[in-house]
Amino acid sequence: MPSPKCPLIAGNWKMHGTLPEARDLVAAILRALPGLGGARLLLLPPFTVLAEVAKLIGGTSVELGGQDLFWEDKGAFTGEISGPMLRDAGCRYVLVGHSERRQHLGETDATVNLKVRAALKSGLKPIVCIGETLEERRAGKVSAKVDAQLEEGLRGVTAGEVGQVILAYEPVWAIGTGETATPAQAAEVHTHIRGRLAENYGNGPASCAIILYGGSVKPANSYALFKEKDIDGFLVGGASLDADAFFGIAREALRADREKK
Ligand code: PEP
Repeated sequence: MPSPKCPLIAGNWKMHGTLPEARDLVAAILRALPGLGGARLLLLPPFTVLAEVAKLIGGTSVELGGQDLFWEDKGAFTGEISGPMLRDAGCRYVLVGHSERRQHLGETDATVNLKVRAALKSGLKPIVCIGETLEERRAGKVSAKVDAQLEEGLRGVTAGEVGQVILAYEPVWAIGTGETATPAQAAEVHTHIRGRLAENYGNGPASCAIILYGGSVKPANSYALFKEKDIDGFLVGGASLDADAFFGIAREALRADREKK
């Protein structure tokens, strides 16, 4: 099993993946897995294929998460999925506050916070997505934006719990656009986030925290991004639907990781 210190490469399939497509993609991933060595791979498929993907990856090092959850465990919330349901389907992780949900589905920092706390209560590791829009970057408001998202999103999360939280810095302007933050731009924000965690929770939890970068990551840019010291892995959207690209990213991250150590 890869150690928790290995690069974490999470694949957000978004709203892609019928059952046959999911089976094909997982089969390709499992074929390539023995040659990888080291990286932790996490798949975040749509709800409808979670149970099938859980079955297919059972007994391997590949991990599973949901793309969202609701904050109540059960009840009259038509269309929603709860933390216990995700656990039941084999998940150990869940995305919270992805910018596409903030943009199209009314997600706010307040609902992100409810979801983070619900995930922790259910024994799921929330992957909390934060990041600025292009307008906010141009206005010099990157730190203010991520600070506010951290403050609100993690409100009430204790020092004992924060080790279960993964953060994903995803500049909104880089998601699905082909535009990537430069390694220096990403590193600056990652270091800022780690600093904030240190102020709020102390140096120990901050140095152990996993902070992913997301936004048009591909094999060609993952080495340079991962070389930056505060980048611990990637949240990959589009490229995670292609097993070759997904593994290319993981291999480049591992190469950079070996050079960092
Ligand atoms: C994402 O879905 O979180 C993401 C970063 O998408 P993409 O890699 O396609 O930009």
